[in-house]
Amino acid sequence: MKVHLKQIPTQGLHLEGDEDCPIQEVESEGIRCAGPLHYDIDLGVTGGGLWANGSLSQPVELRCVSCLEKFAYEIRVPAFAVHTELLGPETVDLTPFMREDILLNLPAHPHCDRDGNLVCNGKQFEKREPQAQSDWSALDKLKLKS
Ligand SMILES: [Zn+2]
Repeated sequence: MKVHLKQIPTQGLHLEGDEDCPIQEVESEGIRCAGPLHYDIDLGVTGGGLWANGSLSQPVELRCVSCLEKFAYEIRVPAFAVHTELLGPETVDLTPFMREDILLNLPAHPHCDRDGNLVCNGKQFEKREPQAQSDWSALDKLKLKS
């Protein structure tokens, strides 16, 4: 999402709309864009910098880590905030900032029942991580032999 600085009046600018999903390059088995990014932000220019704040939402399809079913999820960034220096060009691309904030709000271990709308059938598939066994005692024995 590129912003032309000339289009920003001194009192700031409110922008609301949809953009192409900014995280297409990170799509994988576990995450897919399910629609456009929706943004609702205020922009302004002060003292050689551009600031923006507002909210973002990005519908995606995630895969539940428990039952491996795909489910719809909306990544929300309720407090999107950017302050960046203006380094010459007349346009500023906000997409990298949006992508970063969306990825930060992506659940690391998505569960389909996290919103309470779905019942997850995969609890029985969840594996418990085996406790790492300490092999130091075996190593000590070897050292003693040599
Ligand atoms: Zn599930």
